[in-house]
Amino acid sequence: MPLALFDLDNTLVNRTGAVHSVVTRLCAAHGVHPADVPRIAEALRERAYPATFAALRRELHLPSPAIALWDWYVDAIAAAVTCPPAVATGLAQLREAGWTVGIVTNGATDIQRAKLRATGLDQVVDAICISDDIGARKPEAQIFHAAAERCGTPLTNGWMVGDNPATDIAGAHAVGLRTIWIAAGRAWTHDSRPADHDVADAAGAVTHLLNL
Ligand SMILES: [Mg+2]
Repeated sequence: MPLALFDLDNTLVNRTGAVHSVVTRLCAAHGVHPADVPRIAEALRERAYPATFAALRRELHLPSPAIALWDWYVDAIAAAVTCPPAVATGLAQLREAGWTVGIVTNGATDIQRAKLRATGLDQVVDAICISDDIGARKPEAQIFHAAAERCGTPLTNGWMVGDNPATDIAGAHAVGLRTIWIAAGRAWTHDSRPADHDVADAAGAVTHLLNL
C-alpha cells in the first residue's frame, strides 16, 4: 500500500487567514491596539504554544491567565480554520484507491487535534503524527519515520505533500520520500532540491497521486 503523508497547516487547512481573524478578535477583546495585530499574528504563525501566550500576556499586560488565553485561542482557531470539502473527499478517494494516508504536522498536540476534529480530517486518514506528541519536528527524519510507523506502512515509495520548502519538502527528500509542493502561486526560491511536483492546492496533490 503506497503511503501519502500530508502536512496540515496551509496544506489541508487554511491557517493564515484563521490566525489573522482570531488575533484581531483577541486584540479587540483586550483593548490591544489594532496596529499590533500583524506582529502578533506573525509571531503566532511561527509558534503557538502555551508558553507563547505566557510571553504575550506579560508583554501586553493582559489580565487573563496564560492558560485561559491559550484555551480560548485553541477553540477560536479550531473554529476558524477551514478544509475545502474537495480535500476531505479527495483523501477518502485516495484511501479507496489503496493509498495509506497520514497527516504529519508540527505543533502543540491540543491545538492540532482541535483543528483535526473541527474539520473532520481526523475521520478520513489512517494516522496522525504531531511533533509535540513524539518529540521531533519536521524536517527531522524521526517524525517521518514515526508517521510511517503509525500508518503501518514503510516510507519506501511514499509521498509527502506540504507547503513548506524546508520542513516538508527538504525533510521528506532526506528520508527518501517523493514530494508535492503546495506552491499556492509562489516560485521555488529555496536553495534545496525542488519538489518532484508542484500544485496550487491539496486537491491538486490528490489528483496527481490518483493519476500516478
Ligand atoms: Mg504547512
